Amino acid sequence: MSSQIHKALFWFLLIAVSIVSQFCGRNSAPGIPDFDVVILNGRVIDPESNLDTISNIGIKEGSVQLIAVKDIKGRTSIDARGLVVAPGFIDIHSHGQDPENYKYKIMDGVTTALELEMGTSDVDRWYEEREGKSLINHGVSAGHIPLRMRLMNDPGGFAPVGDAAYRAASDSEIVVLKEEITNGLNRGGLGVGFGMMYTPAASRWEIMEMFRVAAGFKAPCIVHMRYAGLKEPNNAISALEEVISASAITGAPLHVVHITSLGFSDTPRMLQMIKEARSHNVDISVECYPYSATQTTIESAIYDKGWQEILGIDYKDLQWAATGERLNAESFAEYRKTGGMVIAHSIPDEIVRSTIADSIVIIASDGDMKSGKGHPRGVGTFARVLGKYVREDKLISLSEGLRKITLMPAKRLEGIAPMMKNKGRICAGADADITIFDPDQIIDQATYEEPAEYSMGIKYVLVNGIIMVEDGQLDDGIFPGIAIRGDIK
Ligand SMILES: [Zn+2]
Repeated sequence: MSSQIHKALFWFLLIAVSIVSQFCGRNSAPGIPDFDVVILNGRVIDPESNLDTISNIGIKEGSVQLIAVKDIKGRTSIDARGLVVAPGFIDIHSHGQDPENYKYKIMDGVTTALELEMGTSDVDRWYEEREGKSLINHGVSAGHIPLRMRLMNDPGGFAPVGDAAYRAASDSEIVVLKEEITNGLNRGGLGVGFGMMYTPAASRWEIMEMFRVAAGFKAPCIVHMRYAGLKEPNNAISALEEVISASAITGAPLHVVHITSLGFSDTPRMLQMIKEARSHNVDISVECYPYSATQTTIESAIYDKGWQEILGIDYKDLQWAATGERLNAESFAEYRKTGGMVIAHSIPDEIVRSTIADSIVIIASDGDMKSGKGHPRGVGTFARVLGKYVREDKLISLSEGLRKITLMPAKRLEGIAPMMKNKGRICAGADADITIFDPDQIIDQATYEEPAEYSMGIKYVLVNGIIMVEDGQLDDGIFPGIAIRGDIK
């Protein structure tokens, strides 16, 4: 007991000293506001320190400078009474990386969106294209798939449809891919992206060779695994074995994307495998999205012959993203020729819930909206976590829900991008990426039929100290988003 009192006293003193120290050396003239922006009387939640208290926040030059209960003044002030003030949400898996998608993201509370699974074949160009034009912070990995597509002149778009999917790489092509991934990481790529299901002809050796490059940079390998579903021998469990081994053998950190949409009802066993490997010091993280349907391109290798048995679904479980219609054998054949996004209702609801509730699982959207069409995860993932799974279902606590969409993704990337140490938290010195929401109102509104509906309850969003959403209204004429990038060599 007495040690607990001592501990409490220690923390009290530490907090008191840190609050006082924020004022040391500050000599503002009377009448001049101390801060650019102040956020007053909000319930401030920081998942790293477990701070959860009504407080004021002072922001200057893009960073949080003070968290205190005392009165503070700023040139602009936000009244956050009755609202939660949280670190800006970080979407560690966001394919949509254009102005349209950034609007959906920010209106869902996201201040940093990262394309890590697919990645890019040209890291420099990817960042150049978004410089000074982005509402939110953004970043990309060096992508095995787009590099393989470029090398093999694959005519596909989002995913390969030709040689990059179906032809084995020669030894000399593997050497070229290794060099290209090295280039991408040297240019600040945030890891190496893989989608073995989209490149079924990429051998296990080829994948391991790419992991070896990543290991040299301590860069995470962000992986959409080779197989989905329950059917032995080529099921999601064997696919997870492949990448855990590659990580253990090479030493490259591993991040497994959207585990529920590959593992289905085997997901709990796969999470057990990941935890066991972690207990033996294999560096693995994992994410899911909070929905029971998947979405990808119909022309990709995922829908090659045999998909019904592998995925445990049939034509009627497929929904055409552009129109919302359910498919049959004829429309499937037709759309596979033209190509486009298809939604598959294939993940059991209890698996979605148990995975969200698992303490090691990060939540990310895997979203990509095109002209208002797409899977609702691209629009509503984050509000859905906090509205449905935290408030309505009480599946996880508010601080736990926030941890999964702020601190956990930030920490995953700190090794490759030290700038992430200042994101995903609210503390003195943190970047002022802040999302302020009404905990009683927040909810997703995007549905499979009407995906282009902004989430409700996101009241204010600040990106690097700039107020982008004010009283629920987006200002899309300023572009404070910065590049999240590893060290450039
Ligand atoms: Zn994927």
